[in-house]
Amino acid sequence: MKGKGSPMKAKTATKKPRQAPRAPAPLEAEFIVSEVVPAPVTPPASGLNLGLFLDPKRAISHFLEIGIGKTGATCGSFILINPNTGLLDIEATRGMPLRIRRTKLHLGEGVTGWVATTGKAMRIPDVRKERKYVTVLPKVRSELAVPVEHQGQVLGVINLDSVHLAHFSEEHERAMTGLAAEAAEWLRYGWELTALRAKDQQLNALVQMGRSIVSMTGLDETLSGIVANGARLMKTRVCSLMLLGPDKKELVLRAACGAGLRYQNRPPLRVDESLVGAVVKRKKPCIVFNVETDPRYHEVAMAREEGLVSMLAVPLIFAAEAIGVLNVYTDELHRFSNQEIKLLQTLADLSAVAIERTRLLTRVVDTEESLRQSERLSALGLLAAEVAHEIRNPLTVMQMLFHSLVSSTPMNAAASEDARIIEEKMRHMNRIVDQILSLVRSAEPIKEPVDLGHMIDDIVLLVRHKLHRQGIEIRRDSEAPLPPARVDRAQIEQAILNLVLNAVGAMPEGGALTIGTSMEEAEGESYFSITVRDNGVGMSAEQIDNLFAPFLTTKQHGTGIGLAIVARIMENHSGRIEVESKPKRGTRFRLLLPAG
Ligand code: ADP
Ligand code: MG
Repeated sequence: MKGKGSPMKAKTATKKPRQAPRAPAPLEAEFIVSEVVPAPVTPPASGLNLGLFLDPKRAISHFLEIGIGKTGATCGSFILINPNTGLLDIEATRGMPLRIRRTKLHLGEGVTGWVATTGKAMRIPDVRKERKYVTVLPKVRSELAVPVEHQGQVLGVINLDSVHLAHFSEEHERAMTGLAAEAAEWLRYGWELTALRAKDQQLNALVQMGRSIVSMTGLDETLSGIVANGARLMKTRVCSLMLLGPDKKELVLRAACGAGLRYQNRPPLRVDESLVGAVVKRKKPCIVFNVETDPRYHEVAMAREEGLVSMLAVPLIFAAEAIGVLNVYTDELHRFSNQEIKLLQTLADLSAVAIERTRLLTRVVDTEESLRQSERLSALGLLAAEVAHEIRNPLTVMQMLFHSLVSSTPMNAAASEDARIIEEKMRHMNRIVDQILSLVRSAEPIKEPVDLGHMIDDIVLLVRHKLHRQGIEIRRDSEAPLPPARVDRAQIEQAILNLVLNAVGAMPEGGALTIGTSMEEAEGESYFSITVRDNGVGMSAEQIDNLFAPFLTTKQHGTGIGLAIVARIMENHSGRIEVESKPKRGTRFRLLLPAG
């Protein structure tokens, strides 16, 4: 994993803005990507400054000021119910010390709490005689508290205080109730707009992410991209991604954004014993409201040190299999809405596809590398066999001549000792040549019944990503299923693969590759015919003349041995290879294998 910034930096990472999620849960629209273009939102019919009211915070201050102006109150506050914490947050105050703002009230606590839970206004002529009243400012004598309500749901409370006894009249209460209703409407409107803006941003982020993922090639790069986008999209402090290890028993942290060192160095988690393990096993999202206090969360100390509070984890699923988890953590208490869960799950689905795509690409590159390797080895084998063959004949002649020479020549002791050594060395050379030839002979075909159609399916499967990447369309051109052919599976597979890879090499700008199979009759014999056709660069007549000679290549990294091997394999099978080609038009290779 690459370094993801210092823990210090992580601590100052963006805080989740308190905006759309503040709207009470039942009013939230479900997040569906295709539905992000909203139905027009109509602002409440009021002559007030629209620009001012697009921002709920400014609307709140504005309404509080109007309330104080209308009633002649000494001071006041605008309070909202926070659906995340269930607490009453003081959003705006007038005529009160600033520290009051930090006060957190519980629902049902004090006059405000009562108004918030019952949705009823409360007018108190003398606060000293009201049991529910909690003294905040000692000089206050009377109070008016009205609920801010929208369609039967209490969003908050406007509190007005006076230093005079019985300051607020019935008329004041009526006026404030009307004002509160208007404020509620503006709040809903503002929240909805903020939510829509957020959705718009989210959709853009998703689209952007999709784009950037397509351009990533390495797995590490893809994973870092996913978590960076995840944190931005979800507006959370931390986003991390864990993948299942090869034995599927452990989840290993592969990328993290916004996390400190301790988190980044967390050990692998056992799937059977951890919370996120359950996400993988059940393939369902999991929410922990507070990881610092939830007994199901194992690493409380780490969470405290890192300042992680609420967690949402969703599974990464590819082809119905969970391959890992995507987690986000906030740095303050937060209730994840259905919309947020869906959003992260959408991101996770996208990510799983991206991860699998990157893994496949890596595998294709590996396959190509091993193909090239095996082609080189075959080339070496072929070369060794040629050399062995070339040496064996002269060596046999030398041995014969040497024998007659030694037996017809009188020699002293020293010379006959030399002769003995020469003879021994020649025998040694002969043995080496024998061994090489027997090794090559073991490449003699081991024939077994093979379904050529299936074999071609397997080859297509192996190269489909390479073809796709290069814009090559693959076509199968096969008649009725063929009877099994008696061939050496590995050798024929290698021959076809060689032809396919050559065809791919001949179509750098894309094209069509056709692989066909059929039965043919020629000179009273029946043959299996395998055709590999491309519409690539083609070959000149001159090129075709030397095509099967080893080491002839037009490619920068070619070996020029592929077709020589194919020819040798066909020879081993008493078969034939045919070629037709036109420059710029394409090439057709045909392998013919006797069916008898
Ligand atoms: P290599 O692929 O390593 O070059 P091969 O023996 O497989 O070696 O191919 C030899 C040469 O034959 C290639 O370099 C290429 O010039 C030519 N060739 C083979 N197949 C095709 C084809 N389908 N279209 C055009 N040229 C081909
Ligand atoms: Mg080749």
